[in-house]
Amino acid sequence: MQPSTTGIDRYAVIGNPVSHSKSPQIHAAFAAATGQSLEYTAILAPLEEFPQTVAAFRQHGGRGLNITLPFKQPAVDLCDQLSERARRAGAVNTISFNNNDLYGENTDGVGLLRDLLDNLECKIDDRAVLILGAGGAARGIIDPLFDAQPGQICIANRSLDKARLIADAFKDRGHIKVSGYPALAGQSFDLVINATSLSLSNELPPLPAGVFKPGALAYDMMYANRPTCFMDWAMQAGASRAVDGLGMLVEQAAEAFYLWRGVRPETLPVQAMIRQQLG
Ligand code: NDP
Repeated sequence: MQPSTTGIDRYAVIGNPVSHSKSPQIHAAFAAATGQSLEYTAILAPLEEFPQTVAAFRQHGGRGLNITLPFKQPAVDLCDQLSERARRAGAVNTISFNNNDLYGENTDGVGLLRDLLDNLECKIDDRAVLILGAGGAARGIIDPLFDAQPGQICIANRSLDKARLIADAFKDRGHIKVSGYPALAGQSFDLVINATSLSLSNELPPLPAGVFKPGALAYDMMYANRPTCFMDWAMQAGASRAVDGLGMLVEQAAEAFYLWRGVRPETLPVQAMIRQQLG
């Protein structure tokens, strides 16, 4: 890893794979728009060398990192301090190097909620919310979702045990109903969030018909250059709107940028720029 020759503050996203990441473009756009002088790159860490790669980046003047798959959980153990949100999520997507300490935060959930509430003007208070999937992404959104005071949260997952673990971890925040997919028959929701990885392989979660209430929003955390198969299916199955996770990606990046630089960038122009780049 080369030290910065420019003397400006260095940031990066670290993952494996990482070449697909849009974070360098997003943070470069934030920096340009806010007049911040920084360098942001993508670092491919060997699977067995995540701690060493982080240490090397720090030694060479790194100020902060975004963490992507498969290192969000290992990053928890690497940090000296964790935000309450990162601790509960069991995942870190943003590290800040503060003096001698590594501070770990999770901005994924806040990013999703900001996209839903501010950009999409989706109402969550007293509404019924269904989360599909019980992996790291699902776990990361629960805490900020409770802050938005939904009437009901239900998690449906193939492996019920993983959904039960999440419900248990957040039981002091409120009740989370846990369900298999077939048992959703006869139930309907105002907001259905696809937090499974199924869209990546162009597959659908096995949802029964009638899962969308009138006016419901379908949100797929994945994003692509065209509507995902989940979005297409949702519109046919009665959702009023279907959107992908690009807004969440840009909003979680903005939250990380704010943590590092103390400046909140505008997000919608950057979302539009990345959408255009996707083609
Ligand atoms: P994980 O691998 O941790 O979890 C994947 C989930 O998908 C699990 O609940 C798993 O169920 C479920 N799943 C996988 N295959 C199947 C299948 N064949 N049938 C039913 N369920 C299945 O992934 P993450 O939680 O980290 O990520 C999930 C998605 O969210 C990804 O598409 C990722 O790209 C996206 N994401 C988007 C972000 C954004 O900023 N837009 C940020 C973070 C994530 P089981 O538990 O039974 O295995």
